Amino acid sequence: MSDERNKQTRGEQLRKALLYDKKNGYDRLLPGEMEAIEAYCTGYKQFLDAGKTERECVDRTIALAENAGFRPYVRGTALNPGDKVYRVNRGKAITLAVIGKKPLDQGANIGAAHIDSPRLDLKQNPLYETEELAYLKTHYYGGIRKYQWVTIPLELHGVVVLKSGQLIRVSVGNGEGDPMFTIDDLLPHLGVEQSKKPLGEAIPAESLNILVGSRPLENDEGKERVKLAALELLNRKYGITEEDFISAELCAVPAFHASDIGFDRSLIGAYGHDDRVCAYACLAALLQLTAPEYTAVCMLADKEEIGSEGVTGMKSAAFDTFMEDLCQAQGVPLRACFEKSFCLSADVTAAYDPNFADVYEKRNSAFVNYGLGLCKYTGARGKSGASDASAELVAKVRRLLDNASVVWQMAELGKVDAGGGGTVAAYMAQRDIDTLDAGVPVLSMHAPFETVGKLDCYMTFKGMKAIFEAV
Ligand code: MN
Ligand code: MN
Repeated sequence: MSDERNKQTRGEQLRKALLYDKKNGYDRLLPGEMEAIEAYCTGYKQFLDAGKTERECVDRTIALAENAGFRPYVRGTALNPGDKVYRVNRGKAITLAVIGKKPLDQGANIGAAHIDSPRLDLKQNPLYETEELAYLKTHYYGGIRKYQWVTIPLELHGVVVLKSGQLIRVSVGNGEGDPMFTIDDLLPHLGVEQSKKPLGEAIPAESLNILVGSRPLENDEGKERVKLAALELLNRKYGITEEDFISAELCAVPAFHASDIGFDRSLIGAYGHDDRVCAYACLAALLQLTAPEYTAVCMLADKEEIGSEGVTGMKSAAFDTFMEDLCQAQGVPLRACFEKSFCLSADVTAAYDPNFADVYEKRNSAFVNYGLGLCKYTGARGKSGASDASAELVAKVRRLLDNASVVWQMAELGKVDAGGGGTVAAYMAQRDIDTLDAGVPVLSMHAPFETVGKLDCYMTFKGMKAIFEAV
């Protein structure tokens, strides 16, 4: 070793000692981690295929949690280290906790992700017929690029709640042999004028109408026979009438299964990586805990894609109520817990895309296969809307991740003023919780089919576990 060092030039020595060395994650894996990555991603792909809406993600989360010994928390019951509890917020968000050895006034470690994804919601009066074709009107949810949602297979998911209060689950397209739906687009032969329009204007929102049928009702002379025939099918299968759409939450989501991408199968293509890839990482890490030092909390929120508003979004007091219930079981004030807590706001970031290099600043971008991306700040135009974690907090997380051999990188979403985005971090920080953004780098974020690296998925799980297990 000393011989080797003597051979190094002064420049080589300085380079080794002073420069920040970024290496591809595949050159930094521990023995056996390739297999661990594959096994983890198999579970993740199943989670994606089972959960295409926030409600379905909650259902799948409950099943996995119950299997791991979690029970719904009953307000007022005693809590002991190692207890595993959860609470569902109106079927669309869920908070799970493993009670730590230290009391809650020493703080909790929180992983917060969101389980809603961009999609096309049906309007409340959606079904119509024109020129003997039946369509559903939509209002898009979240930031979509409209041109990406035409001419792809779509599924219909959601619930219809009858006036009686009875809830009917709808899922068409996900089952074996199910029909699918689609939105039509112009043929190139007649698209001359459309092709001259800016990308954002070529497909107007009101043209995102889903084709749902074409066969007219038999032996009938009346009007709107195609629409009527479609309604008859819906009535037979679900017992609903046209008026019941008024109290329904139905949405069209891409009909793609999660698939390996690449000759080497190193990537996963799927709908909804944003932000189920981080939600699953937080959940999977929590499910492996027994009795951590500090209480570990996994918060899977709804409505992030439309600003975290609403009773199931991260701004809702439902999270505080659950945490306060846990605190009360230990006779601890909630504010004492929050001021000592840490939250990893686990949300995806943009992966550097060599096909669109000019919107990225390469030195500060996240790269596929370079691991969990930490974002000190998000926001747009001068960090507006960002939580901006402190240097002290970033140092603490660096230390934790390095000690656990997690592959991670520093990330900023694109060039300054090229755009921007937000997460739930600001709403956690508002609660007096130290919060840092971190997540998986994604290619084609918010597209119907997004791509992530398997290594980065696994490292996000591993990083979350390191935080939950911090002593
Ligand atoms: Mn997100
Ligand atoms: Mn998003």
